[in-house]
Amino acid sequence: MCISKVLKLFKKPKPPVVLPEPPPLTIPHPEEPMNPDATIYNMNLEMVRQAWYQVWKVPTKSQAFFDKVILKLDPNFPYLAGTAGNEITFQPVWCNKGTMAHEMCHIAYALLTDKEKSDFEATFNTVKDEPIMKLVNFNRGMVENHADTYRYIGDNMPEVLKRFYRGLFND
Ligand SMILES: [Zn+2]
Repeated sequence: MCISKVLKLFKKPKPPVVLPEPPPLTIPHPEEPMNPDATIYNMNLEMVRQAWYQVWKVPTKSQAFFDKVILKLDPNFPYLAGTAGNEITFQPVWCNKGTMAHEMCHIAYALLTDKEKSDFEATFNTVKDEPIMKLVNFNRGMVENHADTYRYIGDNMPEVLKRFYRGLFND
């Protein structure tokens, strides 16, 4: 290497240090679109349950419990989906893993004592303004807030809330 080239190397101005922009915060589990082709004949409820287990990382030891939840399809159901006792009914077009996550969360909520339910509300109110929580439109009451936090944010929800999701996270 000739001396002029070596000098050039020293002259090279240092590039300014630019910190990378943090990635924009996005909803970890965005809503699936309605599937107009889904019918009671081509929908496989067990596959949807398994997809929920996989994507929301439902602990293996809890799966025997959630396997016992009865799943049904009804194209004339008055809601997109609904939970009553140990049974979830879906309109076929809205039967997807996100809806499954939401409804299964109602099953988990029912396991909480009244004290835990009120503790959830108090804890939820302390974290509802965190950036990740701001991505979700919470306006349908505390039971729906509980389910939508899990359904949209899953594992990324504030740690203090996880104890109110029995069976849905590894302890
Ligand atoms: Zn709900």
